[in-house]
Amino acid sequence: MSSRARVLVMNSALGPLDYRVPHGMAVEPGSIVVAPLGPRQLMGVVWEADRMPSDAEVGDNRLRNLMGVIDTPPIAKPLRRLVEWTADYYLAPPAAVVRMAMPSNSALEGTKTITEYRATGEVPARLTPQREQALERIGVRQGLIRELAAVADVSDAVIRGLVKAGALEAVQVDIDSPYPMPDPKFAQPALSPDQRAAASVLVANVAAHEFQPTLLDGVTGSGKTEVYFEAVAEAIRQGRQTLVLLPEIALTEPFLQRFTARFGCAPVAWHSGLRQSERRRAWRAIATGQALVTVGARSALFLPYANLGLIVIDEAHETSFKQEDGVHYHARDVAVMRGKFERVPVILASATPAIETRQQVASGRYAELKLPGRWGAAEMPAIEAIDLIQDPPERGRWIAPRLVKAMGETLERREQVLLFLNRRGYAPLTLCRTCGHRFQCPNCTAWMVEHRLIAHITCHHCGHAEPTPRACPECANEDTLVAVGPGVERIADEVKLLFPEAKTAVVTSDTIWSPAKAAEFVARMEAHDIDIVVGTQLITKGYHFPNLTLVGVIDADLGLNGGDLRASERTFQQIMQVAGRAGRGEKPGHVYIQTHSPDAPVMRALITGDADAFYAAETESRREANAPPFGRFAGIVVSSEDKAAAYETALAIGRSAPQVEGMEVYGPAPAPLAMLRGRHRFRLLVHARRALDVQDVIRAWLGQLDWPGKVRVAVDVDPYSF
Ligand code: ADP
Ligand code: ZN
Repeated sequence: MSSRARVLVMNSALGPLDYRVPHGMAVEPGSIVVAPLGPRQLMGVVWEADRMPSDAEVGDNRLRNLMGVIDTPPIAKPLRRLVEWTADYYLAPPAAVVRMAMPSNSALEGTKTITEYRATGEVPARLTPQREQALERIGVRQGLIRELAAVADVSDAVIRGLVKAGALEAVQVDIDSPYPMPDPKFAQPALSPDQRAAASVLVANVAAHEFQPTLLDGVTGSGKTEVYFEAVAEAIRQGRQTLVLLPEIALTEPFLQRFTARFGCAPVAWHSGLRQSERRRAWRAIATGQALVTVGARSALFLPYANLGLIVIDEAHETSFKQEDGVHYHARDVAVMRGKFERVPVILASATPAIETRQQVASGRYAELKLPGRWGAAEMPAIEAIDLIQDPPERGRWIAPRLVKAMGETLERREQVLLFLNRRGYAPLTLCRTCGHRFQCPNCTAWMVEHRLIAHITCHHCGHAEPTPRACPECANEDTLVAVGPGVERIADEVKLLFPEAKTAVVTSDTIWSPAKAAEFVARMEAHDIDIVVGTQLITKGYHFPNLTLVGVIDADLGLNGGDLRASERTFQQIMQVAGRAGRGEKPGHVYIQTHSPDAPVMRALITGDADAFYAAETESRREANAPPFGRFAGIVVSSEDKAAAYETALAIGRSAPQVEGMEVYGPAPAPLAMLRGRHRFRLLVHARRALDVQDVIRAWLGQLDWPGKVRVAVDVDPYSF
């Protein structure tokens, strides 16, 4: 007897589809199957098995057969509920969400080993220059032919040629080889009384195996990691899995090192840089419960943990937990929902918790544990403002004399300095002195940013890059382009002028693009091979350099200009985090913030250290404006390469907005990036009171509308950009 199953096929455009389960094939909800779709075969997840069709539906004999079941544990109920919840809450197609829970393409097939290649160490005589260069770029890396070709930026044929020439050899990788077991007793720290009190609560939560969200709130350097490691140790003792979510891959490396020091081996790291074989191995070890601890960025949230016992969200205030394309979800909030469905505790660790999270604590939904002081002898650094109007830098310079003096004194004491400016590249804007021409991205509403290190101007939104021209493309005059404003590269130039003897490093996503680069940077800092770091937000969190005692914030006002409802909060968080890098060891730290408005409430809060008063005022103004977390927003973004079509559609959607008590619709207006990757974007902003099921309203509203195929409509629930 055949039966019928409803399957979510990995094609985000379609909803669940019915298939016939042929005789002899057994599926259950969550089974991963291969399903035909048109001429293609795609993976899918069985959502309902043994479905009884209504009379109106086509009979089983008209359905297509499922083609196979993959030999892997089915996606369990809590994860299926999470997929449904996420799709529902963020108004995303369920197949687009389930895809995040699946390994890419055919990574699940039954084979046990994968053939990879690596250098033999023998370099044949008479290699073509291309092959020689490819070999050099591959270095000690190992991977599939395709992966090595990508690393070396050559065709697959070149890699095969290197295999034939004996320069590369095949290695069989067993994808089911187990991961080492972390040992909870490996290096147990002696906790301070505050740490011990917090840790014992978290350990009890893990033992209880119940949903319990808890904010672990402690200043930078208070030892939060050591505290939540105790909860991880308890989960390991119970044989249950832990997921640690980090806001960005760049933080993985320091985390791996600390974890290894505590538990004797590294956890499984899940990120976009994994080789396919590593991805398969990790996925299977997670799905069978063998891998006990996984650390990863957002996407690790949807992995099929067989036996979850704990979720940790580190740096929980970070805005990069919010995904801004594809499914617009907030990983922090989805992680809490996963904890709820799996019935496990969730720890949100932060020195600067978001107002949303504080509000959850205030309302009693989340518990809170505090670590009031820094661990050991370390003190919180003193923060001082430098008024850029009273005490300006020299013309054409960006570092004020007081900061220059402090830098000199710090270097004399053989200590390290960090200068923070959240702007990659040399200058945010380049223009022609003769005709005023500015370089704008052809695909986006954004200026192109000059990067001198690579001699290109690039767009930070779509990645469009061109060699920096010598002549102005408008007026053809040469040597007439000028840089306006500073980026980190320009600050580094100024530092080299001021302190030619000092060793300077620039830390941005341009220089630290992989975990290996991050590890290299950490090693150089620890060896004091760097005196002065100039960095973007990448440098503001997670790092612990005891000899770093001076932090200078080049432009504290930078984040305040956007008119974003979270601008003050973010500025506060970012500067507290970067200030938190100073004086983490025994030597005291000092922080200077350069600002034009030292009397602004956020600057006052930073200087006096009175976070509570600042947050209270911020929370009050959110309440008055009925802004999150008290009221809610949702963006409806309409985009198309055809500007008129996008605008017409946005207008039509706006005109058909339903009249709902407690809800207002603004716009359409040009979206925050009016043009992005060649698409014109308009946005309607929905503002609603908390109690309203705004998703339901939007679903019904958009559900009855139609728009041309070239127009895309995306909903951004709880948007972050305004
Ligand atoms: P946070 O995450 O709160 O910023 P960390 O967990 O990074 O703080 O701790 C700051 C520093 O103090 C780290 O170097 C850490 O190893 C050290 N530390 C914290 N608690 C202990 C402890 N109980 N024993 C030894 N070292 C500790
Ligand atoms: Zn662009």
